Amino acid sequence: MFGVIEGTGFEPIDEAFNECLIGHARVERLWTGARWSEGPVWFAAGRYLLWSDIPNNRMLRWDETDGSVSTFRAPSNNSNGNTVDQQGRLVSCEHLTRRVTRTEHDGSITVLADTYQGKRLNSPNDVVVKSDGSVWFTDPSYGIIMDYEGDRATIEQDGCHVYRVAPEDLAITRVTNDYLKPNGLAFSPDEKYLYIADTGASHQPGGPADIRRHSVNDNGTLGDGPVIATCDNGLFDGFRLDRQGRLWSSAADGVHCLNSDGKLLGKIHVPEFVSNVCFGGPKLNRLFICATTSLYSVYLNVNGAR
Ligand code: MG
Repeated sequence: MFGVIEGTGFEPIDEAFNECLIGHARVERLWTGARWSEGPVWFAAGRYLLWSDIPNNRMLRWDETDGSVSTFRAPSNNSNGNTVDQQGRLVSCEHLTRRVTRTEHDGSITVLADTYQGKRLNSPNDVVVKSDGSVWFTDPSYGIIMDYEGDRATIEQDGCHVYRVAPEDLAITRVTNDYLKPNGLAFSPDEKYLYIADTGASHQPGGPADIRRHSVNDNGTLGDGPVIATCDNGLFDGFRLDRQGRLWSSAADGVHCLNSDGKLLGKIHVPEFVSNVCFGGPKLNRLFICATTSLYSVYLNVNGAR
């Protein structure tokens, strides 16, 4: 675990990447044994990380105190993306049940969204919570196009879109409708921008493999979302930001670090396809990396945005 894992390493592309690194830090493989790992989320108070193993219909829990991994929830309804809200509650996207849920402090489940205008959602994929309590999620169709990560089903919506759930009454609004397969999403540290990945290239040759940046209006709507980056190896599935506004995104060859304008600063090579990342540890300076069968981590000289 503490040796150098074959296929890992750092590739600075811009000088600015070097200040993000700790000279002797290495990528560690914390655990392996999943079919498709995605949706990591850090729980600071409990000192553990949760993530989804989508095809195995379970959520796993890595314990920082002893490094053990156990099953947190099974069945998980083929959960995918997860996040934590300001009250420390788990918010999850579920493919099988085609919904976004919140796990309350007493363990009960509250459905935050499962339909839009009377029709079922596709298969919510990734989710973030804004400081005002609104819940933003993407709804591509990956969970219903085959039986592997959910139940195959006919799409009811008129496409794959991004939604916002209002904190007051759980009213759901569609905030964009010009994505092919909206996937990862995250706010800038000041919440002036929402970054959204489009992984449309997964099922449409030549389709988008982009991250777009939208301005966020006070009324909960989004401005235009110009493309700021196109992935040069695979897809930007999920990503998180650090306090300086850099994006740390999944790709086929590892984690790509982009500045806030989308310029590629460098890569952390990982020997499996990466799906998503999150910052954790008491100082949020440890990047947890979900990559196909495994969970990896690396300490960085940056801190995750709160
Ligand atoms: Mg995703």
